[in-house]
Amino acid sequence: MLLCQKIKIEVSKQDAATLEFMQGKCRGLYNWWVMRLHNGERWNLNAAKKSLQESKAYDQNLRFVYGKLLAEVYFRLDKAMQAFFQRVKAGEKKPGFPRFKPRHQFFTLCYPAMYLEVQGKTIILPTGGGGKWGPKCYPNIIAHLTETPPEHFREVAVSRDARGSYYCSFVYDDTEQHQDKDPKENTRKKHNMRKQHPMREDGVVAFDLGIKTLATGVTDQGRFYHIGGFKSYRYYNKQLDKIRSKRDKCKKKSRRYIRLSKVYKRVSEKKRNKQRDCLHKASHLIAGKLAERAVVIGDLSQRQMVMKNHESETPKEHTKRRIRNRMVYNDWGLYGFTQMLEYKCLRFGKELSIISERDTTKMCHVCKHKQDMPLWKRTYRCSNENCGLVMDRDENSAVNIYERFLARPGPHTGDPVRCAECSPQSTCLKTF
Ligand SMILES: [Zn+2]
Repeated sequence: MLLCQKIKIEVSKQDAATLEFMQGKCRGLYNWWVMRLHNGERWNLNAAKKSLQESKAYDQNLRFVYGKLLAEVYFRLDKAMQAFFQRVKAGEKKPGFPRFKPRHQFFTLCYPAMYLEVQGKTIILPTGGGGKWGPKCYPNIIAHLTETPPEHFREVAVSRDARGSYYCSFVYDDTEQHQDKDPKENTRKKHNMRKQHPMREDGVVAFDLGIKTLATGVTDQGRFYHIGGFKSYRYYNKQLDKIRSKRDKCKKKSRRYIRLSKVYKRVSEKKRNKQRDCLHKASHLIAGKLAERAVVIGDLSQRQMVMKNHESETPKEHTKRRIRNRMVYNDWGLYGFTQMLEYKCLRFGKELSIISERDTTKMCHVCKHKQDMPLWKRTYRCSNENCGLVMDRDENSAVNIYERFLARPGPHTGDPVRCAECSPQSTCLKTF
């Protein structure tokens, strides 16, 4: 399958300036087209591509940008326009017209692989001009890769992060790579990738994704998994808030202001990296190491919708909910997590099912009685007196998701039998 490896690159000051120049020109071309389309012009990819010569005649500097990068701008805009047309066709209320790319963001440069030269850890990124195309204003960029790139790759995207470091992202097919070259370099990777974990073909594991614990899972054998997730966001947020408040007291653009901005960027990047790393590890654990072949999770897109419909809430409740939303969806990165799960499951040959998770936290998994479960209630105590289930709320929810998965229409034949005297302990699941 297609994978991507993002590698940090080191470039000289001059080469960095070249990259900035090229991305600026590409963005300019993109935004110019977006503006024309905003004014009602029809989009036609071929006609737009043909107009590049005119654009070059108008702005001589475009000649110094590598031609393939400029061509890529049209494809990128075409993708955006086609996606927009599709959204309109689907009848979405806010189809979202392609936007202008802001100046402070790096406009990603996409190089097709066939024009790139990699020697060891050095990659040469061509610039415009030279030969029959006239004088070369900027020499080709010679970038040092901090890691070994994949051997056969399709295209390379150059990007920049918030702190000003540049990266090359290599798109490659993992089946196309030679597996037996330079064992030293790949030992660690090989160890991670090729280690086969036993898989139970009929095994099922269902996960409840949440705030307090990233994922709580239950298997068809009644075993529970608890994956804690990123814990230190509070530590980072405290730091970040402090830095920001300090910075906001300074005069804008002063030396101290600039320094504190830099620190802020550094700390927030560290937080992001830690968090992403944590999500990668958790999804890798689920997709790569657990024995169950079928993985079930709840559908998060529904959760947000349920949360949105609160018209009768007080302003205080509203603020609370907004903060909570930010916490779940931004800080915890649950969406990113499901995306990682999706591709990792595919990669490890697992089957990921996403099912509706409506009421799974509210419902008792034994007697199906429903009760409200505010977020602060960590334990589910069934209010049905004949049942009296006491269980961790996430575990209860995971069991509900598991049962819903088994009950779904389809070729599945599993018929869960509940134990007669359902004990409050989660161990009673063993009789499934
Ligand atoms: Zn109950």
